[in-house]
Amino acid sequence: MERRVRVRFAPSPTGPLHIGGVRTALYNYIFARQNGGDMILRIEDTDSRRFVPGAEEYINESLAWLGIGIDEGVREGGAYGPYKQSERRDIYREHVKALLDAGKAYIAFDTPEELETARQEIPNFQYDASTRGNMRNSLTMPAEEVERLIADGAQYVVRFKIEPDREVRVNDLIRGEVVVNSNILDDKVLYKSADDLPTYHLANIVDDHLMEVSHVIRGEEWLPSAPLHVLLYEAFGWTDTMPSFVHLPLLLKPVGNGKLSKRDGDKLGFPVFPLEWHDPASGEVSSGYREKGYLPEAVVNFLALLGWNPGDDSEVMSMDDLISKFSFSHCSKSGAKFDFKKGIWFNHEYLGKTDNDTLATLFMPVLAEHGVAGADPAYVAKAVGMVKGRADLVPDLWTQGDFFFKAPESYAEKDVKKRWSADTPRIMEELIGVLEGIEDMTSANAEEIVLGWISEKGYHLGNVMNAFRLAVVGACRGPHMFDITELMPKEEVIARIRRAIKEIPAPEK
Ligand code: GLU
Repeated sequence: MERRVRVRFAPSPTGPLHIGGVRTALYNYIFARQNGGDMILRIEDTDSRRFVPGAEEYINESLAWLGIGIDEGVREGGAYGPYKQSERRDIYREHVKALLDAGKAYIAFDTPEELETARQEIPNFQYDASTRGNMRNSLTMPAEEVERLIADGAQYVVRFKIEPDREVRVNDLIRGEVVVNSNILDDKVLYKSADDLPTYHLANIVDDHLMEVSHVIRGEEWLPSAPLHVLLYEAFGWTDTMPSFVHLPLLLKPVGNGKLSKRDGDKLGFPVFPLEWHDPASGEVSSGYREKGYLPEAVVNFLALLGWNPGDDSEVMSMDDLISKFSFSHCSKSGAKFDFKKGIWFNHEYLGKTDNDTLATLFMPVLAEHGVAGADPAYVAKAVGMVKGRADLVPDLWTQGDFFFKAPESYAEKDVKKRWSADTPRIMEELIGVLEGIEDMTSANAEEIVLGWISEKGYHLGNVMNAFRLAVVGACRGPHMFDITELMPKEEVIARIRRAIKEIPAPEK
């Protein structure tokens, strides 16, 4: 029988979710939807020293913003909960005990100092079959002593007993079969008595099994842990339900070599986090895609193509397109360069396609930042509709369309020089009269009347129209002039021409 597809995104709440983690979540979500499966969000918070307040909320908010839906999780509930590892201590304790009882794990009392000494005395020391016989653990100590130490409250760890000289096979859907010799693995710590908590490895495997995870889709940085995970599945006797592994390629720096880091973003001016993050300890603020004015659909589209391609030349793809086209066979093994400029390009494409009302809503906070309060949403929608084709990010709508909301404070010098001649003030006065006489300011009608007047008077079309634009916009830029004057109240247009006549010094004849 085909196994039900169940995947999990399993972040540790140790800080803001990195953009690479977002891509992992996205691929999990896409794969779940494509197969009619379940998407689980599991919070891996067993390392209490690295817990950061606000990180879990940040994860939830980021996924919601991007449209990455969760079927089972802390908030969603589900039949396999709890979905937060710190609430599953009893489960882990029971499983650690099972491994100990079966002789697949052992108790070790070595102190950090003793381990350090071993490291100094033995070259390339690794706690494994070749060294464990010389260490202080339940394999080398009499059972009574082990019991006595535990009864006395001595701190210990439980280590996984890895059999030497085994070939461990990891079945990876991107990389094929990865084979490693068990000699390179150390007897990993699975549990620490000090905080009565399992380590990542144990909790991760136990939960993947109990939650019936069918595919483990995660970043390449976890590939070295996969052989250990396979051995744990075996040790528990769960080989039949071992998930398929999928290790996604690393995200690489846009320029140069190596892994993408926050520093690359700071240097080149792009965010590496989905949402703005305010570090609770340092107060440092890191920029986010949402606050920078990216659209979630654009971020999703951009991230989906970092490490996967659709096999044809499609670029702009909705979540539904991605769900229908996605396949691990088109994922690459090698790292994906984080081409943030491509991300900007995607945003430009999506901005241009977004309906004006939606854009207006996104633009309102930008207007407020520029001191524009109480703008009529219908007016804003029409204004952004005229300039959205020229914008990459939401704040660019301001750079492109600021004049819809405030009169020019200055006039572009080079345009003045080129277009404002000694005659211009007089012609602009005349234009005011023409505009005052127009009843219907719709674009085509106003255009016909104004151009008719220009040609009747024998004026230079380019000079008059550019002076008109200079007066209303402040520079020779922006959408079609009569589209602007259709939207703007006529009194405002006229007031701006009057102001320009007054403010722009007319050159000598
Ligand atoms: N908690 C791990 C992380 O933060 C999960 C890795 C995995 O998916 O197995 O990425």
